[in-house]
Amino acid sequence: MNSIIKAENLFFSYPGDEDNKPVRALNGVSFEIEEGSFTAILGHNGSGKSTLAKLMCMINMPESGKLWVMGKEMTSDDVTDSDILSARREVGMVFQNPDNQIVATIVEEDVAFGCENLGLPPSEIRARVDKALSDVGMSKYARHPATDLSGGQKQRVAIAGVIAMKRRCIIFDESTAMLDPMGRREVMSIIQKLNKEEGITVILITHHMNEAARADRIIVMNEGRIIGDGSPREIFGDPERMWEADLDVPQTTELLYKLKKAGLDLPIDVFDVNTTAVKIAAEIRKKISERG
Ligand code: ADP
Ligand code: MG
Repeated sequence: MNSIIKAENLFFSYPGDEDNKPVRALNGVSFEIEEGSFTAILGHNGSGKSTLAKLMCMINMPESGKLWVMGKEMTSDDVTDSDILSARREVGMVFQNPDNQIVATIVEEDVAFGCENLGLPPSEIRARVDKALSDVGMSKYARHPATDLSGGQKQRVAIAGVIAMKRRCIIFDESTAMLDPMGRREVMSIIQKLNKEEGITVILITHHMNEAARADRIIVMNEGRIIGDGSPREIFGDPERMWEADLDVPQTTELLYKLKKAGLDLPIDVFDVNTTAVKIAAEIRKKISERG
């Protein structure tokens, strides 16, 4: 496996206020993210997801443990500032609040901001901004004031800024949480397109189980530890375990699971509403004909 990020036994604590003890946010976390993959991270508030994200893009460094980005160990004693800088250029992050991420007045200036900081030539910036705006379906808003946009459109502009910097891996930290259902759908379809068509490695931190179900892999966190790691089928295929951890499963899984318990012969690892409806209808038809 060609891993873009690898973590071994990461620990991280935040300093407490004056007489309080430090807050342990990560408690020995190990995993590997394959280049080009789509991973979702689930877990309650406070389970350590954002802390982990900030280590993966090196906003913070771990207290102990090892971290590799693109095969280079960032926690080794002989890592240089330039190694860290180049690793930071590979992994980008999109945050939760669309309003906090817009830095310029006009959309295209906002998208160009990160590239300008990279010191790229103007013609290169122009080309990257145009491509990035087109990737997120916002070309026609290039010269619009950013403040006029909806939440979903602002998130698309924030994503365009990260795309323009040509990150190989993008971490979305609850980037759909503040959006309405329409904005959420827009952003999710862009995230999937970036992964499938551009080969960008995606790490999606979310509370929406139907979003997580679209990933190749789900990591479940609790109290600074990984308590589950598998495909959506594996993770949601055992809803009792998720409920024990006080987490949800997709609504389709919950419905199918309850019907299965009531005696219908149904799979539970189906996440798409239409397929779920077809399966239930077929099973009911079968039951009726058996009686008839
Ligand atoms: P999540 O993103 O899963 O909600 P976080 O990584 O933000 O979890 O938080 C993990 C733990 O670290 C929580 O107990 C939280 O209160 C604490 N924490 C997060 N950020 C800070 C901070 N800046 N200072 C002190 N404690 C923090
Ligand atoms: Mg968080």
